[in-house]
Amino acid sequence: MAAALVWFRDDLRLDDQPALRAALDRGWLPIPVYIHAPSEEGEWAPGAASDAWRRRSLAALAVELERRGSRLVLLHGPTLGTLQALAALTGAEAVLWTRRYEPAAEQRDARIKRALREAGLHAESFNGALLFEPWDVATKQGDPYRVYTPFWKAARAAWRTPRLWDAPARLPSPDEAGAPHGVELDGVIAAPRPAWDAGFWQRFTPGEAGARQALAKFVGQVLDGYADARDRADLEGTSRLSPHLHFGEVSVARVAAGVLAATGDDPAGRERFLAELGWREFAHHVLHHHPHAVDQDLDPRFAGFEWSPPSPARLEAWRRGRTGVPIVDAGMRELWHTGWMHNRVRMIVASWLTKHLRVHWRHGARWFWDTLVDADLANNTQGWQWTAGTGVDAAPYFRVFNPVLQARRFDPDGAYIARWVPELAALPAAARFAPWEHPQLLRRFAPDYPSRPQVDLAAGRQAALDAFARLREGR
Ligand code: FAD
Repeated sequence: MAAALVWFRDDLRLDDQPALRAALDRGWLPIPVYIHAPSEEGEWAPGAASDAWRRRSLAALAVELERRGSRLVLLHGPTLGTLQALAALTGAEAVLWTRRYEPAAEQRDARIKRALREAGLHAESFNGALLFEPWDVATKQGDPYRVYTPFWKAARAAWRTPRLWDAPARLPSPDEAGAPHGVELDGVIAAPRPAWDAGFWQRFTPGEAGARQALAKFVGQVLDGYADARDRADLEGTSRLSPHLHFGEVSVARVAAGVLAATGDDPAGRERFLAELGWREFAHHVLHHHPHAVDQDLDPRFAGFEWSPPSPARLEAWRRGRTGVPIVDAGMRELWHTGWMHNRVRMIVASWLTKHLRVHWRHGARWFWDTLVDADLANNTQGWQWTAGTGVDAAPYFRVFNPVLQARRFDPDGAYIARWVPELAALPAAARFAPWEHPQLLRRFAPDYPSRPQVDLAAGRQAALDAFARLREGR
């Protein structure tokens, strides 16, 4: 039986895995391989939180393979040479993988595909990460979309749940093709020491089984009511599937199908959730067509904007959750502790940085990149450019989030603030949103918490609006 290398990347699952499926359908013995090559990711090598997740996800994938009689061959880059050497050693005729869409990965993968084909191997890639390929959705004129709403309207209308492929119960062993043992996981991604990631695993279980559990919990317990609860920072009102989707531990088609098949009486919640998957699709569509978006404003007018040079002390206070604005600090501490932050709060902390402090979104995007377990180049870039007002479809720059009003609305009892900024828990709930307005309470109950925000809310807002007005008027 001739062999095929199944090159795993951000598709760390066996269920609905098109590369694995292709190998089996075509009668090849699949040799599952993962190649660690962070230097091939350009400026966006995975951050520390991503690595902590990937380490566990790879371990989980290895267990799933072993349960079925196969095993994961873990190797170091450079990728092309490693794939070629492994193919030569095992006599593999083919290399199969699911596509990634980050600019550096797209270019690298295209080079690899060409080189493998020139060397006489069958090299083929598949869509395993998106509902639609970024180039499959286009306007009537054949152009990429620049606005989410018509993009999703067109994509949603075209969506048909495909036939999903279940993980096989048994797999042949790569030993049959003489595959090497590869390196130990510790030699590829070391475990964090000290274990700064401990808080992540109180909330998340990386790997395919963890992803399926999270999906089942969401569909069974959270989906009804999602449309209303999704914006509440204090509730578990969303799926928390983002890291599982980023690492491909569950296919997005499987998630969409699970939600569409739910029998609850909340069709609005189901459509709303699909529309969020639609934002993920849109982010990948935009990134594919505008690869420079990862570090350049998509709205060219912002080339002349007066961003403030980021003061290290201010930036550090934002990173550590010491801005003096409780909802911002709660979000930044939730991120540090769990590797994840609620979407509404991501917008609030991003607005604070880019508007009240007028720091370029790149600085925030970099911090998120290093600290989020769901760090995803397409979604992160879009989230930052949207909030900063510099994206193709973005909140207008003059819409500045008021973090006190946002907190009152989306954390009405101050419970989220109390959880992540525990020094404020002793304050009455109504005083937690803007504690500087209650200096006596603050001195008495939370003497170590900043006595006022790092910039005055009204003054920071006005300065941002003035800078934007100057940009518009070309002054
Ligand atoms: P749910 O509400 O359950 O949504 C389901 C899925 O839809 C998510 O898992 C995610 O894959 C997708 N999704 C939801 N909202 C968005 C959105 N606004 N944009 C794109 N996809 C979305 N998401 C990431 O996955 N990685 C990032 O690095 C990332 N960075 C962000 C940075 C900023 C500044 C902002 C404002 C948003 C960012 N997001 C990012 C989008 C969003 O915040 C997260 O996807 C969401 O909070 C994940 O939680 P969930 O899985 O419970 O979402």
